[in-house]
Amino acid sequence: MNEADKEPPGKSDIILNPEEEPPGKTAAIRHRYFEHIPDSLWNDWKWHFRNRITTVGQLAKFIPLSTEEQAHLSLVTMRYPLSITPYYLSLIDPDDPGDPIRKQAVPSALEITMGAIGLEDPLAEKEDSAVPGLVHRYPDRALMVLTDICPMLCRHCTRKREWRHGGWVRTDGEIEVMLEYLRRNGNIRDVIISGGDPLTLSTRRLENILSKIREIRHIEIIRIGTRFPVVLPQRVDEELCSMLSKYGPIWLNTHFNHPREITPQAAEACDRLLRSGVPVNNQSVLLRGVNDTVETQLKLCQSLLKIKVRPYYLFQCDEVQGTEHLRTPVETGIKIIEGMRGHTSGLAVPTFVVDLSHGGGKVPLQPKYVLAQTEGELLLRNYEGHVFRYRNPDSRRPQKKEVVEVVSPAGDAVDRALASTGLSFESQGAKDADRVVVRS
Ligand code: SF4
Repeated sequence: MNEADKEPPGKSDIILNPEEEPPGKTAAIRHRYFEHIPDSLWNDWKWHFRNRITTVGQLAKFIPLSTEEQAHLSLVTMRYPLSITPYYLSLIDPDDPGDPIRKQAVPSALEITMGAIGLEDPLAEKEDSAVPGLVHRYPDRALMVLTDICPMLCRHCTRKREWRHGGWVRTDGEIEVMLEYLRRNGNIRDVIISGGDPLTLSTRRLENILSKIREIRHIEIIRIGTRFPVVLPQRVDEELCSMLSKYGPIWLNTHFNHPREITPQAAEACDRLLRSGVPVNNQSVLLRGVNDTVETQLKLCQSLLKIKVRPYYLFQCDEVQGTEHLRTPVETGIKIIEGMRGHTSGLAVPTFVVDLSHGGGKVPLQPKYVLAQTEGELLLRNYEGHVFRYRNPDSRRPQKKEVVEVVSPAGDAVDRALASTGLSFESQGAKDADRVVVRS
């Protein structure tokens, strides 16, 4: 039995007390339902994992759902299951059906009614699997999918197709086959550990895998893709961070989609990682009604910088079956980038990317800043809409003799400065003149 499977699925720790206290706008559910959970349990990631909300009946105890809604959602969960950690549930405003946190976690009937649109495996990951669980699409990178278990099932997940298989973790034998593939392919220098969510595995099991990857000399960096800092930050504890610090360079990519997800607990988790030498980047997904405005993206990315997490990618939501209701037109993403670039620090502007279907890879998209281009000049538009000419140096065109005027001080200082450019030049005029004409 693997470590993740050992987690008891009991729900008995939850103490429901819906009559207790009127909720605030945020963390309302924590106040209403989990107030009696002692901090020792609330801060224990295994408690959250054991007490995930996995049925519509349980969900209805926390979020108002009509009988009809419950019936619809029960149908949805037969195809696309439900799993929400108490922590993430506590971020939902239960009284707002359009709440952006809720949209990421709570199933929608549209997952079924629009379910025929899109593809089951848009990124063709199955086709690119070199051995079971290891995707080798690009020459120097490989992706290890260690499990299909996630603490929360995000409604926009690209790997939604895997949810039906009931939760698996790669066996030691399967992982050894992946490691052997890595050992035999000397061109792989970057290994991405993904899932599901790989931090679902115990720290001990993860260490076993990471240490073996580190023994492979040609593997330069390890990347971990995880949403735990967002949906269950308690998992990022000292034990995990101390272990990760031994096997660097490790980069961690996480998945904040909305500024309200950046809670003190999430910030602490990211801080622990950073202090352990693990840089944290964010890959968000553009979602209708969640984060599809310039205002929300600005707030998200600026808030990420405040906790020293770099906004890395903003993904167009993949064309996955069961997610069409959350997808936005590509133009939305381009307009958002246009509304951010130049209006805030470049560090806060992620790269907007479409991950092409059928395994075509990532394509960055951005607003049109090049309006026209001739052989020697570009017409560029800046973030304010002003148009500028920009001379384009071209090494293929013969260099013209140009007259450069150098204003005093003339003399040896000018000669030395021009010589340092590496260009040949001749100067005219007396060495002590105020102005020297130089032909380069
Ligand atoms: S954490 Fe990632 S892999 Fe897991 S359900 Fe969410 S989007 Fe999918």
